[in-house]
Amino acid sequence: MKITRLTVYHVDLPLEHPYWLSGGRLKFETLDATFVKIETDEGVTGWGEGTPWGHTYVPAHGPGIRAGLQTMAPFILGLDPRRVLDVERAMDLALPGHLYAKSPVDMACWDIAGQAAGVPIADLMGGGSRTPRPIASSVGAKTVDETREVIARYRDRGYIAHSVKIGGDVARDIARIRDVEALRNPGDIILYDVNRGWTRAQALGVMSACEDLNVMFEQPCESLDDIAAIAGRHRSPVSVDESLVTLQDATRIARDGIAEVFGIKLNRVGGLTKAARMRDVALAHGIDMFVMATGGSVLADTEALHLAATIPDANCHAVWACQDMITVDIAGGRGPRNVDGHLHLPEAPGLGVHPDEAALGDPVAVYS
Ligand code: MG
Repeated sequence: MKITRLTVYHVDLPLEHPYWLSGGRLKFETLDATFVKIETDEGVTGWGEGTPWGHTYVPAHGPGIRAGLQTMAPFILGLDPRRVLDVERAMDLALPGHLYAKSPVDMACWDIAGQAAGVPIADLMGGGSRTPRPIASSVGAKTVDETREVIARYRDRGYIAHSVKIGGDVARDIARIRDVEALRNPGDIILYDVNRGWTRAQALGVMSACEDLNVMFEQPCESLDDIAAIAGRHRSPVSVDESLVTLQDATRIARDGIAEVFGIKLNRVGGLTKAARMRDVALAHGIDMFVMATGGSVLADTEALHLAATIPDANCHAVWACQDMITVDIAGGRGPRNVDGHLHLPEAPGLGVHPDEAALGDPVAVYS
């Protein structure tokens, strides 16, 4: 089987509500999505998606995905998409780094490989749990009252897992954490996501002020050096996501004891092939995981769900459904959707959901 054509689409995905990160430091209203269709000489077609969370969140750039595809396409055409490692090496040789530009191709290749084998991607990767995965909300808010409102809105849709975005004003962060904890339900999974918003001193200040609550913080400071520097000086469990980009990051975090949890973002780390290695490092070192797209449609959510299904149930805290935050549905309601706050693994071969091409508009590039 050979890759004969790559077709690239650019779609803007508007957010239902304006979204604030780091207590108002960053605002987001629309996501820049790239969809890739890979066709083969045997008639099997795969789909991939790359949707960074805006341009300011982390070094990942929507237009950069499309530029990267232009550079990599000549090296991808003609390869067997079922040999995902061959495709991965070809992309890494053609364009070092730029992992976010590679993940849509990796995703489409896994989709084709699953269809060719007649099994869902998770099963092809070695075994997919059918236990529904809790969906973590993404509570981008600024004040105590807004935080309550957003969590209530998600609870109405069945959500039990919440990622509350903090990292702005320290006093307000503490007030918001205490208010959310006062309203915590039994069984809730709550993560306080700082998104790099604190200095080391601010992180230690909030973490010590909230020590009695025993809550988990995500990415409290800018870098792994910062998070490592404060690791011995507080007692809160820590998840790392923005600073988890490469396999070397994963092994360093595991070896040096920098975090207890990985937040694996598929688009950010370069797709399923690279993310699966991080999963294995985590499992080997007693590190639990959140798995999510960096953003995007039901396609990106489904990719994350497949990886989550390859993690033992006890070690996978939650996934994310960015689809619930956007106003455009490019797959006409198909694919895994929120059912009482959980996503169920699709049983169809491959990814299990494809977009309506008419909803994507005209392609912006075709390589053949
Ligand atoms: Mg995060």
